[in-house]
Amino acid sequence: MNVLVINAGSSSLKYQLINLETKKILAKGICERVGTAEAFHKHGLDQNEVVIDAEMHDHDDAMALVLEALTSGPTKAIDSLDQIDAIGHRIVQGGWYFDSSVLIDDDVIAKIDELAELAPLHNKAALMGIHACKKHMPDKPMVAVFDTSFFQTLPPKAYMYPIPYELYEKHHIRKYGAHGTSHRYIAERAAVILGEPLDELKLITCHLGNGCSASAIDHGMAVDTSMGLTPLDGLMMGTRCGAIDPAIVPFIMEKEGLSPAEVNDLMNKKSGLLGISGISNDLRSVREASEHGDERAMLAYDMYSNSVKKYIGQYIAVMGGVDAIVLTAGVGENCEKMRRLIFAGLQPLGIILDEAKNRQRGFEREISSDKSRVKIIIIPTNEEYMIARDTYEIVHERSQIVPVSAASA
Ligand code: ADP
Repeated sequence: MNVLVINAGSSSLKYQLINLETKKILAKGICERVGTAEAFHKHGLDQNEVVIDAEMHDHDDAMALVLEALTSGPTKAIDSLDQIDAIGHRIVQGGWYFDSSVLIDDDVIAKIDELAELAPLHNKAALMGIHACKKHMPDKPMVAVFDTSFFQTLPPKAYMYPIPYELYEKHHIRKYGAHGTSHRYIAERAAVILGEPLDELKLITCHLGNGCSASAIDHGMAVDTSMGLTPLDGLMMGTRCGAIDPAIVPFIMEKEGLSPAEVNDLMNKKSGLLGISGISNDLRSVREASEHGDERAMLAYDMYSNSVKKYIGQYIAVMGGVDAIVLTAGVGENCEKMRRLIFAGLQPLGIILDEAKNRQRGFEREISSDKSRVKIIIIPTNEEYMIARDTYEIVHERSQIVPVSAASA
């Protein structure tokens, strides 16, 4: 069965065609700057990637180009659209409606639209992707996979904010989390690697990329996560501030004369590693500058690691212990120096990094010392595979969950 995975952004359309039986990616690509004169389409697997300048007024045009690239010319991966069995869509906000992935029908579309209030850019973009697919492939079953659904198991004490209760009732202000598909994937894979059932493990999963989040997963259920009503909360990130004293917001607005939209922009796009270092949101550039003695870059580096360390501590307390800490995404997978800082000083908690293993490169791997009571594991995330697998299971009405095997990248 071939599943087309669609991740639609406000001006982009990312896709992968995955064969579920072989777990192989047949094709992938992205249409960027959709709706602008600079639109282009990147298509193909790593070595054979081609970049095509193309006119794309909207997501409908982008989808037409994607389907053409998949089925014809030198980029062809399948003979015809008949070889696409189903489509899986990544949806950022599933709110209180969706605690799992679902088959898309008119009611689901209406709910995704209603929830756009909580994630305006993301959910509207996802709807454009859904409508474009409906237009070009009206008969294909489509499944919605939500970033938030994994966190619907959080207890009220974790998802409620201590502000007047009426605001929750009136505006649904609560924690929804984000990156759920990634946390779910690495938690399942960690259980396979540890050789123990997921429902017998206490895990802390850390997605450390440009966006960063940490989750506490107790016996297979998410019990807390660092992102909140929006993906701005929690850990310090590339350009996002994460958790700060909320009083800072009205204070800056008053002092700097900023509107709500401007202060929102400041916290989302000008803060985090970029805001502190003044150099970049990219950890590699910050690390380089810090190694050349740039004090603000050093500070940004220290703050980032401290932020992760604090969430690890919190979640150990929340779960009353931890069996394994799982790291993923650009920083988690690749930055040995950041990992060293994050785990420095945690020996009293039974968390000991093996310096040699930490330096090794590779795919999925354990980097804790043999003496460490708590395992530290690196697992490259694979959200697209999870979306394809959910789509496959729902379309086939399979109730039995197939354990995630290492998907080929
Ligand atoms: P996104 O959230 O955009 O998907 P990624 O998971 O690609 O982000 O992670 C991007 C981050 O990973 C950047 O800060 C980048 O600097 C960092 N990163 C990638 N490779 C390395 C590396 N080898 N060393 C340090 N940081 C790295």
